[in-house]
Amino acid sequence: MWYTCHRTFKSEEWSEYIQEEVELQKNFRASWLLKKKRLGFDGQQQTPFVAVVCEKERRLMMMIDHSTRSVEIPKYIIVRPDAIERFTQFFTNMDFSRACVITQQPILSIVPEIASTIPPDSDRHVFLFASERPELNQLISMVKEVHTIKPEVLIGVGGGSVLDSVKFISHIVNIPMVLIPTLASNDGICSPVVSIKLEKGRSDSLRARMPFALFADTQLLSKAPQKYLFSGLGDVISNITAIMDWELSSQKTGEKIDYFARILSEMSYKSILNFSEPSMQNLNFIETLTDSLITSGISMEYAGSSRSASGSEHMLSHAADIVFKSAHLHGHQVGFYTCVILKAYQTPLYQRVMDFFHTVGFFHHIPNALLLSDPFRAITGMARVIRKRYGIMSQLSDPELKDVFESTVSDIRQRM
Ligand SMILES: [Zn+2]
Repeated sequence: MWYTCHRTFKSEEWSEYIQEEVELQKNFRASWLLKKKRLGFDGQQQTPFVAVVCEKERRLMMMIDHSTRSVEIPKYIIVRPDAIERFTQFFTNMDFSRACVITQQPILSIVPEIASTIPPDSDRHVFLFASERPELNQLISMVKEVHTIKPEVLIGVGGGSVLDSVKFISHIVNIPMVLIPTLASNDGICSPVVSIKLEKGRSDSLRARMPFALFADTQLLSKAPQKYLFSGLGDVISNITAIMDWELSSQKTGEKIDYFARILSEMSYKSILNFSEPSMQNLNFIETLTDSLITSGISMEYAGSSRSASGSEHMLSHAADIVFKSAHLHGHQVGFYTCVILKAYQTPLYQRVMDFFHTVGFFHHIPNALLLSDPFRAITGMARVIRKRYGIMSQLSDPELKDVFESTVSDIRQRM
């Protein structure tokens, strides 16, 4: 349910609405039920205002003036082989009165500098341990803990699950966060979107907060098992088909393309595709890959949704998560489905991406189960209903899609 506003709110009315938002956030509810819709000057609706409506309580909560736009991007982005060292200097200089570190126990031995900089047994700072792929109720209890601790800053150290938890908690309790990724496995390291497990194995993408500082240590990231780097690679390359779908939708349905979000998304995959000697042994390549994942994440902040980095290939991957019970890495799935969708588009980029993936060795990381036709039939059916986003799949029948899939698999098998 959407409302548009044709008047400017008086300042006391604004503050009332904002008070309500704060009140709701304090009570840890409804924030994820909020939906925002941006209206430009180019649609049928001629208003620069957007209504934010709490769906649960069916009431208008806040009006946002979009005559100008504000986006959240990190104040500090440090991508270097010594970023952890930079973080320790930063943390010392900031002299936070109370920090809450959210991580997982084994990560403390991978990044010992964290515990030596922020002693876990100090009275001042608190450590919380996140579980792998937490469910919403686990996150809610973490939110309550954080709210009791009342830290000045949240520091997330870990892989995708930890970072998603921290981004979500930070959004709910409205506390700034610093992120230290230990894996470069997807573009969530610096995005306003989190994937949260809701019910029946289904994950949902929810709005979260951007970090105010990001320390990505390329030396640390390069030491992680290579499958994670290849997952990051697949996630960056998937922006190709995400943008193609967005453009197709713009032609067919009039969906608005955000210029800057598209540019950032394209930059992220082009810098990878055009890298002269791509190899996971090359620290410069890993640095470029990390930069690309960050750029891709920021593109979503400009787009106001995941549209710039998520198209049909992501819809197929979300469906595959349900079919295979999230057994595979996100980037391995979306990288593979990017090939399928490129083939569906009959674009020369198909050959280009196939050659690139072959050169870097991506195909060795594709789980065999993904290449089978039977599960693909179930995956296609689910992908079509998982999210209503116009793309190339909207133009293809199931048998056509199956043909494209099988032909792509045969091309990949020849290169394996
Ligand atoms: Zn992704």
